[in-house]
Amino acid sequence: CGVFGIWGHDAAAHLSYYGLHALQHRGQEGAGIVATDGEFLKAVKGEGLVNEVFNEEKLKSAKGNAAIAHVRYTTAGGGGIDNVQPLLFRSSTGTLAIAHNGNLVNANHLKGHLERSGSIFHSTSDTEVVVHLIKKSKKPRFLEQVKEALSLLKGAFSILILSKDRMLVARDRNGLRPLSIGKLGDSWVVASETNAFDLIGAEYVRDVEPGELLIISDKGIEEDRFAAMEKRSMCAMEYIYFARPDSNIDQINIHMARKRMGKQLAKEIGHIEADVVTGVPDSSISAAIGFAEESGIPYELGLIKNRYTGRTFIQPTQELRERGVKMKLSPVVQVVKGKRVVMVDDSIVRGTTSRRIVRMLKEAGAKEVHVVISSPPLANPCFYGIDISSDEELIATGRTVDEICAEIGADTLTFLSPNGLVEAIGRPFEDETRGLCLACFTGNYPTEIFPDTVLPHEK
Ligand code: 5GP
Ligand code: SF4
Ligand code: MG
Repeated sequence: CGVFGIWGHDAAAHLSYYGLHALQHRGQEGAGIVATDGEFLKAVKGEGLVNEVFNEEKLKSAKGNAAIAHVRYTTAGGGGIDNVQPLLFRSSTGTLAIAHNGNLVNANHLKGHLERSGSIFHSTSDTEVVVHLIKKSKKPRFLEQVKEALSLLKGAFSILILSKDRMLVARDRNGLRPLSIGKLGDSWVVASETNAFDLIGAEYVRDVEPGELLIISDKGIEEDRFAAMEKRSMCAMEYIYFARPDSNIDQINIHMARKRMGKQLAKEIGHIEADVVTGVPDSSISAAIGFAEESGIPYELGLIKNRYTGRTFIQPTQELRERGVKMKLSPVVQVVKGKRVVMVDDSIVRGTTSRRIVRMLKEAGAKEVHVVISSPPLANPCFYGIDISSDEELIATGRTVDEICAEIGADTLTFLSPNGLVEAIGRPFEDETRGLCLACFTGNYPTEIFPDTVLPHEK
């Protein structure tokens, strides 16, 4: 998912709409904006793409000079309008809206407690748990209630909370999901990715720190925290696949990081006999350029993407995914015919994409197809909000690289090493402000995983 927030601008809802456009790649299932005019909170939301959900009339109805907004990804609690965020809660003690990116690993555990003490849940998303925890807190002041609630959460969250007179911004203590703050004139803006700042002409200020809680109001910004930072673990998959190339996370540009992954792969392979390097649009073009640069094999446009289909992975069922892949990519016959092709992709999850593309390139006349992947084999599920679902679906679980190579029908297959990945991103573990989560590759989860931790897609 993606979150966006703005405080202190009279076009808050419209700017949120632009912000969500920049974050559209982070979720296509639904989108919402909640704005406040200092007295009331107004929500506009719906299922579908940002430009399908909103129109001028709806944006105008979300009055006020502060707003939080969200684009929703398939994970975390099934479909349906009830799960489209920001979630809005009206109560006698004050109306609240909340937008969340990430997945909590102890949501079920907390939910059990809350239900036994009388809470009733409206949606299946774990985000609702946060609001119940705030409302159930015995602390006297709202800010302390929020801090207590946040301190009980385990797992991944970049959270925005809007009340009529404040916007609260928080990031989990491991810093799993990205979140940055910026300024647009005198207004504060917050976004999952910095490309949202570029789009609205805001200036990047800094990334939100793990465990940090920022309180933004007409009085300005107050820096506080709800927990100390713990084992900093920025999601490596954001750098590999998820984030947009023009965004920076902790001031590391995504395109440049991907290019270094491609270069690193070429170094790790050593020598490869091939005529052209091609990337799978869009997410692996950067890595393919890096690979070509380092190996000296020319980069070519071997595959074309149809812009008018969504991200294939994000479709909920395997059948839809398979169909999506076919609609999405076509080979450029003149580029690949009779050639030994290096095909760079960012990851192999189920293997659907690679298998299909190898076949497509061979049908287009490629003599050999060498698949190089700018990440290590994905053999473990993600509990933190990226839809790498269950072991059975992952082609790398219980298979050797040779077996995966045979499965996808490639001539050779090479994955980037975990160390090479860390080096290419530029977040060495020795630097405690720079660590990464690599759990889906290594199986070492940075947080506790509970017996009742539910994978997002199982909710
Ligand atoms: P597969 O087809 O092997 O199941 O998925 C890998 C392909 O899906 C890659 O081309 C990658 O760019 C794309 N992809 C889409 N969504 C995701 C995601 O959430 N995680 C990863 N690792 N790859 C994804
Ligand atoms: Fe990212 Fe993988 Fe960690 Fe999930 S398990 S947060 S996808 S690195
Ligand atoms: Mg791809």
